[in-house]
Amino acid sequence: MSKGLINKILPFSSVDGPGNRTAIFMQGCNFNCLYCHNPETINNCHNCGLCIATCPKGCLLKQEGFVAWNKDQCIDCDNCLKSCKSCSSPKAIWMSIEEVMYKIENTKCFISGITISGGECMLQKEFVTELCEEVKALNLTTFIDSNGSVPFWGDDRLINAIDMVMLDVKAYDSEAHKMLTGKDNQIVLKNLDYLASINKLYEVRTVIVPEVLDNIRTVDMVSKRIAKLNANIRYKLIKYRPIGVRTQLINSYVPTNELMEELYDIAKANGCKNIVII
Ligand code: SF4
Ligand code: SF4
Repeated sequence: MSKGLINKILPFSSVDGPGNRTAIFMQGCNFNCLYCHNPETINNCHNCGLCIATCPKGCLLKQEGFVAWNKDQCIDCDNCLKSCKSCSSPKAIWMSIEEVMYKIENTKCFISGITISGGECMLQKEFVTELCEEVKALNLTTFIDSNGSVPFWGDDRLINAIDMVMLDVKAYDSEAHKMLTGKDNQIVLKNLDYLASINKLYEVRTVIVPEVLDNIRTVDMVSKRIAKLNANIRYKLIKYRPIGVRTQLINSYVPTNELMEELYDIAKANGCKNIVII
């Protein structure tokens, strides 16, 4: 069985899919979003050691060229994450399927399933597939939170192992998507169509950032596409909030309630039946 590089595991989360779920955040992302809320998940640690001195508890040590983390002494102050210039974490650890399953078995009476997030969890697709197979055997549901950059199609084993996907469509036009994330969105949009066609698309999410993105264009085009595929797929419009993000975009970029309502109305007029603003 494979191992996965994991940033952290939240035993209980009520914001990562339906119900109470164990959320597993994988390390590593192929996007570089201007507003990334989890910048410490983007890159793998290259063991430079610069974060070691920032730890107030002496939990970080360089051993044989690698930065080791003493989990038991850690107080989760996140000084190390804030000091890392490489968008990484010294706390990410390689875990086997058995080690992750041990944690899930401990919480299984209280959760409806797991959500695998990131970073971009699909970059560790083999591990995700194996983990979802094991979790489904416990009669728990398996959700994937993805930036959509890795194809879901062409992998029956993966598709059989996952119940639903929550997909980001950050911008509709390729150039805008590239400006925001560093990558175009052709695979993202193909994933949108494919996942909807097999009834595995739980929701589509767009973060609204005025002045940085043409939000009206994106919501107009994405909602038209959703409505054509399946009008009941949830379209979640997320208000950008400059809290905990890597780039502190200035306050004027925070969308007004009026703009959010305008976008809601556009999606509704285009035929979406399940629109949520958060
Ligand atoms: S987490 Fe960042 S600062 Fe710390 S050792 Fe790794 S790359 Fe260097
Ligand atoms: S989060 Fe843990 S390892 Fe990082 S600086 Fe704080 S105590 Fe040290």
